[in-house]
Amino acid sequence: MSQLNLILLGPPGAGKGTQAERIVGDFDLPYYSTGDILRAAVKENSELGQEAKSYMDKGDLVPDDLICRVIMERVDSDEAADGFLLDGFPRTKGQAKTLEDALEDRDRSLTAALLVDAEDEIVLKRLSGRRVCSKKGHNYHVDFNPPKNEGVCDLDGSKLVQRDDDKPDTVKHRLEVYHDQTQPLIEHYEGKGLLKRFDGTRAPDEVHNHIRATIATMRMEEQV
Ligand SMILES: [Zn+2]
Repeated sequence: MSQLNLILLGPPGAGKGTQAERIVGDFDLPYYSTGDILRAAVKENSELGQEAKSYMDKGDLVPDDLICRVIMERVDSDEAADGFLLDGFPRTKGQAKTLEDALEDRDRSLTAALLVDAEDEIVLKRLSGRRVCSKKGHNYHVDFNPPKNEGVCDLDGSKLVQRDDDKPDTVKHRLEVYHDQTQPLIEHYEGKGLLKRFDGTRAPDEVHNHIRATIATMRMEEQV
């Protein structure tokens, strides 16, 4: 069977997380979220984890090469023999090159870069309208999923708050960083014919159907 070596791209708030869960379910792939696997490596206190921790303790960024080695440790395991879904790396063109080289060393290559896209205006509206209950973290949205009584959780009556990450200025900054770093990356994958674009402003079910159909088509084309 052919491998599905996939990466997931997209701005915050475009629904990447939801789609990631569904894709790994559809195709039975391990999901590697860079932040999670770095934290796991540190927790397990593996050799690479200790190395990563030495940067994190100093408040420094973990170098691309090291992040890539942590990812490759997983990619080399049995669970990823048929492929993987990688999220959060690469974020820059330099990281993309590091990943490509590492995969090439293993006679593997990327199957596709899945971009779940959404315009800034929509991301801003989605994220800045989010509220969470201060007691148990129940989720609301001022426009799309409002509580019965403004500012109060329906389930436990506790106060609804806005996460710092969702404040408009923070969202705008996250989007700026995303565009600066990721736009060249998107062009890079487009140039290689690996980019598959999906409209993250559509309903999650629709986006999911489109992604699943696209991957299924890629597999069929491969077999011809
Ligand atoms: Zn609540």
